[in-house]
Amino acid sequence: MSSTGDAPVPPPQPSLQPNALSPNGASTNGLPSSVFTLPQTAQLEALYTIIRDKDTSRGDFLFYSDRIIRLLVEEGLNHLPVVQKSVITPTGSTYDGVGFEGKICGVSILRAGEAMEAGLREVCRSVRIGKILIQRDEETMQPKLFYSKFPQDIAKRYVLLLDPMLATGGSAIKAVDVLMENGVPEDRIIFINLISSPEGLKTFSGKFPRLKVITGWIDQGLNEKAYIIPGLGDFGERRYCE
Ligand code: URA
Repeated sequence: MSSTGDAPVPPPQPSLQPNALSPNGASTNGLPSSVFTLPQTAQLEALYTIIRDKDTSRGDFLFYSDRIIRLLVEEGLNHLPVVQKSVITPTGSTYDGVGFEGKICGVSILRAGEAMEAGLREVCRSVRIGKILIQRDEETMQPKLFYSKFPQDIAKRYVLLLDPMLATGGSAIKAVDVLMENGVPEDRIIFINLISSPEGLKTFSGKFPRLKVITGWIDQGLNEKAYIIPGLGDFGERRYCE
């Protein structure tokens, strides 16, 4: 018999996760108050454990990252405004509830952000989706816009900006600059990602304090190649190629 015998294995303690925020979004370690994490439950940590595992098959990576994306999209929608709305129920009673206010659209940062579009479509059936391609300029080493295409009325919409990994924040900052140049106010953009680095979050939210960030998990930091540690490797490669 092993030293643990048949005793049940205690669940992981997600609250011990370094850099975790409390579920209500209040910062426990100096991170900006515009940053919200998913509730750091054992269930969520189990999903992340699967997608972080280098031996996870591509099929499982797709399935479990999609589950997290769905949770993130639902949480993002929680931050949109609502207006009072009354309906009559089948019992003839009046129910004073709320309805969604305003139109939304998704904007994915290519290529990894495209993986989050299906999760948004599952929840918002006919949602408009814009695209933006940003890559590093080989001369200046700065993020450079290569392509963008947005719904023509994007300035009147709330924008859910989609990119799974917030590493240095360079691409996300450039994407927001482009959205704002196209007339979208900062406080109408919600940035959704699966894993953030603390450095990226501080840089990004320091520049855009009125823009809400919904992240699934905040990791320890970045390595010398700007990969998130412990992270999950290259999200796009794992999703589309491996
Ligand atoms: N993009 C990725 O796919 N992974 C990282 O760790 C950082 C950026």
